[in-house]
Amino acid sequence: MNIRTAKYILSSTDFKKCPPPKLPEYAFIGRSNVGKSSLINMLTNVKGLAKTSGTPGKTQLINHFIINDEWYLVDLPGIGYAKKSKKLSSGWSQMITDYLGLRPSLVCTFYLVDCRIEPQEIDLSFIEWLGENQVPFVIVFTKADKLKPLELSRKITTYKTRLLTEWEELPPIFVSSATEKKAKEDILKYIEDTNQLFRQ
Ligand code: GDP
Repeated sequence: MNIRTAKYILSSTDFKKCPPPKLPEYAFIGRSNVGKSSLINMLTNVKGLAKTSGTPGKTQLINHFIINDEWYLVDLPGIGYAKKSKKLSSGWSQMITDYLGLRPSLVCTFYLVDCRIEPQEIDLSFIEWLGENQVPFVIVFTKADKLKPLELSRKITTYKTRLLTEWEELPPIFVSSATEKKAKEDILKYIEDTNQLFRQ
């Protein structure tokens, strides 16, 4: 898929205040600092579209961008941020679960995991929540350039093995690097193919 246009639309605190659910929508989420903004900027080719920031948890809103006037890319808050209120006690907010569980046009959630980090309880429980609530998702391992190929493949195998202790099959998996533009075409192709299904 060629990205012709990528525009910021709005930020909301409530899935009901998001743009009308008329276009297929793809949400991006992961722990703070996982490389979500960098991945979004790589995919859209717009530096600074999503704000790369060293301040974990700074963005606490549902951010909609429209791509090629055809689909929405949604930048969700980083999970696992220091708990400011009791509602955040599980590491993610009701706003996120409401959005993921109730947004009718959400076709896929991209769950981002730093490829260097061993499976973490918060990631595993979030993935479990997605599965239990039948939210379609894929996993994107980020920052692949930070590991040598053998180490990378070992880490990913460990992660998959861990997931397979709970799951019968694995979701689609992408191994990406924003620095090297790795998996960019694969992810965009996946979105393009899924858009076709949405239209049928
Ligand atoms: P976010 O908090 O999830 O949006 O993460 P950011 O995109 O702001 O990235 C967090 C940090 O990781 C920043 O210092 C980025 O430069 C760095 N980073 C993000 N993606 C990559 C990548 O693919 N490779 C490398 N080497 N660094 C990355």
